Amino acid sequence: MARALITGVTGQDGAYLAALLLGKGYEVHGLLHRHGGSEAVQDRLRRLGCSDSVAMVDGNLIDLSSLIRLLDRVKPDEIYNLAAQSFVRMSWDQPLLTTQVTAIGTANMLEAVRIASPGARYFQASSSEMFGKAETPAQNEATHFHPRSPYASAKVFAHCLVQNYRDAFGLFGCNGIMFNHDSPLRGIEFVLRKITDGAARISLGLATDLAMGNLEARRDFGHARDYVRAMWLMLQQDKPDDYVVATGRAASIRDLCRIAFAHVGLDYQDHVRVDPAFLRPVDVDVTVGDATRARRKLGWAPETSLEQMISEMVESDLARWKARM
Ligand code: GDP
Repeated sequence: MARALITGVTGQDGAYLAALLLGKGYEVHGLLHRHGGSEAVQDRLRRLGCSDSVAMVDGNLIDLSSLIRLLDRVKPDEIYNLAAQSFVRMSWDQPLLTTQVTAIGTANMLEAVRIASPGARYFQASSSEMFGKAETPAQNEATHFHPRSPYASAKVFAHCLVQNYRDAFGLFGCNGIMFNHDSPLRGIEFVLRKITDGAARISLGLATDLAMGNLEARRDFGHARDYVRAMWLMLQQDKPDDYVVATGRAASIRDLCRIAFAHVGLDYQDHVRVDPAFLRPVDVDVTVGDATRARRKLGWAPETSLEQMISEMVESDLARWKARM
């Protein structure tokens, strides 16, 4: 039985990836960063029906010795490093914490692999935020990085370090440059989930309006379920490589509002207002991914459209709020 270790297992991607790997017969171990009780933390895994099947191990990316002991004990065949301080806006308020977890945490993980598990295959969750101020209409693996936040800068460091360890030590390390991906399990602080939750609450009469930031930003939005499949495929190849994972289609935040509110029969213009509190010191105007390499080499393609994903998310938020009423 193949063994996988997932850091960030309690997040959106961790939950979908755990479900995928369990379905393929893997023994799945998850790094649990305990702060207080672990009950609420495992909510996403529970919602996908796999909280009892993932073996949780305590540890923290910023504690190298805990990682070494962990790898020694678990002896994973595949490691998926999904843990990060991943909220861009918060990275402006806590840049040092973001660097500690997202950049140094990856360095710790790579050192632990080099010392305790050099034969394991390693996936690094890189981010489209690394492209920042885009130089080309669509970004691929050769596009220059121009990070525009502490989060994105930390991710660039982690990305390069994976390449260094691949070149220098023969690590089977892959970077997946993941464009925005969402699902009903997405945290409420991210834009699409905030919108689907807002549309659900407003349609149920629990709120009247939704305060948003920059409505003109454009992003390439896919479904997390599709994106974790790309992660797994990367580690099944003969050679490690870096891959963009994206749909190739950009939608503005305004488009997302329009689609989500239309799903509950409302006009977003009657409810969405711009509040400067949600604007960022600098923002990324547009990112669109060119996933040609993933399509050709991994045979990967997204299976869920933006409209399908938004419907799934609004329905899930409606059900959650109705259950509380
Ligand atoms: P990111 O791409 O990782 O930063 O993902 P987010 O979901 O946090 O933000 C995506 C885009 O939505 C950014 O360009 C934000 O400026 C924009 N945006 C507009 N209004 C909001 C809002 O109210 N909350 C968040 N999180 N983002 C917003």
